[in-house]
This record gives sequence, C-alpha cells and structure tokens, in this order.
Amino acid sequence: MISNQSYQEEQLEALLMVVGHIGTPESRIRRELQDMIAGYLSFHSEADDFLSENFSDICNEKCYRSNLSACCSREGIITFFADVVVNLLVSDPEEISALRAVLEKENRGFKCVYLGNNGCLWRLKPVVCEMFLCDTAKNKVYSRKPGLIQEWTALKKKEKSFTWPDRPVLFDKIESYFKAAGYSSSLMYMHNSPGLLRVKKLAKMRDA
Ligand code: SF4
Repeated sequence: MISNQSYQEEQLEALLMVVGHIGTPESRIRRELQDMIAGYLSFHSEADDFLSENFSDICNEKCYRSNLSACCSREGIITFFADVVVNLLVSDPEEISALRAVLEKENRGFKCVYLGNNGCLWRLKPVVCEMFLCDTAKNKVYSRKPGLIQEWTALKKKEKSFTWPDRPVLFDKIESYFKAAGYSSSLMYMHNSPGLLRVKKLAKMRDA
C-alpha cells in the first residue's frame, strides 16, 4: 500500500500542477475547462440533491456524530486527476490554500487527510466519495423507500458516462488535455492504470 507521505506528495504535486496550468480567473485554459465540465457539475449537483434528500439524516447520525465513518477514515482515497481539476476550477483561493496546507503537513491520524473539522475540505468531492454509500445506509433507506434504488442506479450509470472509458469520457479528456500541454501525474489513471487501459483497448476493438 502507498504510504501516507507519498500519497500526500502525489496529491500535492497534482494540485500544484493544475493550479499552475489553469491560471488566473480570466485565462483561456480555465474557460475551456469550465466549458468541458459543465455537464459533470450538473450531474454532481443532482447526486448531491439525491443524497442530501434521502441519506443525510442517516449518514450524519451513523457516521459523523458517532465518528464511525467508513468513508472518510480510509487511507489514501482514490482521486482521479480530473477530480482535482474539477474541484480546483470551482474552489476559491482560501479553499485551495486549505487543501495545500493539509497536504504539506504530516497526517498522523487515521482519517482521510482531507477531512477537516467541518467535513471534507473539497468543494466538490472526488467522484469515488460522492458516489459511495455504505450497505448499512442503503439497506436502511431502501427498506423504507425501495423506489430509490432505481434512482441511485440511474445516477451510477450517469457517473460512468463521465468516468468509465469504454467510450470517450470527460475524465479521460481532461487528462489528455493536460498531457497535450506536457503534464504528467500518477493520478492520471485513465492513462496509467492497466485495468482502465484494457477497458479502452477492448472498446476500441469493439468499435473497429
Ligand atoms: S476526500 Fe473528502 S469525502 Fe473523500 S474520504 Fe476524504 S474527507 Fe471523505
């Protein structure tokens, strides 16, 4: 398993790379990327609405108040390079400084480095976190409202349309955009994960 230290170094490297490249609020690159992510932002807010309407009570009670959160206590949650880009595009300078500050100091705790006193420090959570629901929460909520299973399944399908590279997807396009500008990051899983490269290869063969 990757150590906390190298995890933070990788995260910090990606953060500084993205901040440096997207530049000022008026930059052309920032505008181009903002146009690219518009559909994803709508999806994210749809997922937020669904979760806060149906799961916030149980998640607050079970995880945050009792401090038992299975989601945020993980070491080294997976963040895609595109997660970093999207979040930094919508974050203000203070939020970016807060992310940078936690990555620059040693994380001695057992919680995710990004978990602050008031919750996650990301303005827009990484997709893996946003779309994670533990079995206990799902079972409790779905037993009361089984119709929600269908809604959640539809959201998971939408998620894949941005992240699963068996077709051209946003997360891959964002990486390619930065690669074309000469950047490289270990978080560019669409370009360096053997599993995802295989998904892309099989899709190419399917479409040939
Ligand atoms: S990134 Fe945020 S939501 Fe995800 S595990 Fe860390 S604190 Fe929790």
